[in-house]
Amino acid sequence: MIPYGRQNINEEDIAAVVAVLRSDFLTQGFVVPEFEKAMAKYCNASYAIAVNSATSALHIAYQALGLSVKDEIWTSTITFVATANAALYCGATVDFVDIDLNTGNISVVELKAKLIDREINGGRLPKIVVPVHLGGLSCQMEQIYQLSIEYGFKIVEDASHAVGGVYHGNKIGSCKFSDITVFSFHPVKVMTTGEGGMALTNDYELENKMTRLRSHGIVRDKSEIIKKQSGSWLYQQIDLGYNYRMTEIQAALGLSQLNRLDLFIKKRNNLAQNYEREFSTLPLILPGHQPGCVSAFHLYSVRLDPQRTNRSRKEFFDYLRRNDIGVQVHYIPVHTQPYYQDIGIKGEFPNANSYYSNTISLPLYFDLKKKEQNHVIETVKEFFI
Ligand SMILES: *Cc1c(COP(=O)(O)O)cnc(C)c1O
Repeated sequence: MIPYGRQNINEEDIAAVVAVLRSDFLTQGFVVPEFEKAMAKYCNASYAIAVNSATSALHIAYQALGLSVKDEIWTSTITFVATANAALYCGATVDFVDIDLNTGNISVVELKAKLIDREINGGRLPKIVVPVHLGGLSCQMEQIYQLSIEYGFKIVEDASHAVGGVYHGNKIGSCKFSDITVFSFHPVKVMTTGEGGMALTNDYELENKMTRLRSHGIVRDKSEIIKKQSGSWLYQQIDLGYNYRMTEIQAALGLSQLNRLDLFIKKRNNLAQNYEREFSTLPLILPGHQPGCVSAFHLYSVRLDPQRTNRSRKEFFDYLRRNDIGVQVHYIPVHTQPYYQDIGIKGEFPNANSYYSNTISLPLYFDLKKKEQNHVIETVKEFFI
């Protein structure tokens, strides 16, 4: 079975990991800070905080921005559940905004309409809006940023799919139009640390707060100690934090992978161009483009166009699986999950429902061989004959 995504590991990655295994520190050493510095530099952000998953990064990002039980967070329902779950960890209320059918990303038009509607009806405005860069293509960050100034919300970019992507000349992660950006390094994503994630920001206070929350809420630095005590063994817990630390082993893999990130993006874009060329006449809606953006192409999701074919998604999916193509569906809308139904999520998201009903993600990863991609292309074409 050709999977829809998988990691690329080379000898340098292995050597980097082995070097850590032979060293004194498996955690809390020097490699994590080195990885953070390299990633911050790559993205042109001031700070990067490495953690054990993107889910953890989202959690400490929301908490650092003060999200609590009184607050509401808005995101897209076409995302992995973790985007919303991390807000529930903070006790906050989750609501969704419908998507733009061209990209699958949160719709700026719908976002604006929902903000105006709430304002008129005296409802709660969101404390945080979380644009998810679906498949690796950036949301319309400048417009969302403008709305954030008008309506006073914070922005966390869930860029779990988008490390290495570009928005209007800036690397995703620069946080030019957001407070915090989060990456995932799960093996199926663009680059990997096994499990792992990162939060980037340009705000010193947020960096401080997230660093603390990552490790039990404990501080050691003299400037952060609040009650005067003596002794160089001193540490103080000043917040309720977690153990969300990344290991040195993971950071060594990440640092080594970062050397190839641009290569990964280039290859993924080349593979995507092959699909686009070959599928141009099929009754499929292909991933949308946006001027000034480079998608990281974590996913290559196509949609059956109901205007041009009456074949069902289930039929298409089962057919591809039967032909050894490990397709997947991204994503089942979060608001339809039993847990979210139980907690009483209301609202209609017709674009998201339509997107979900027709979408399938085809194989796209660095090591996908020409022969394998041709098998995918030919098999897809045969479905419509
Ligand atoms: C994968 C993913 C996450 C969670 O990432 P982990 O590193 O597995 O915790 C969050 N949001 C989105 C959109 C994702 O795709």
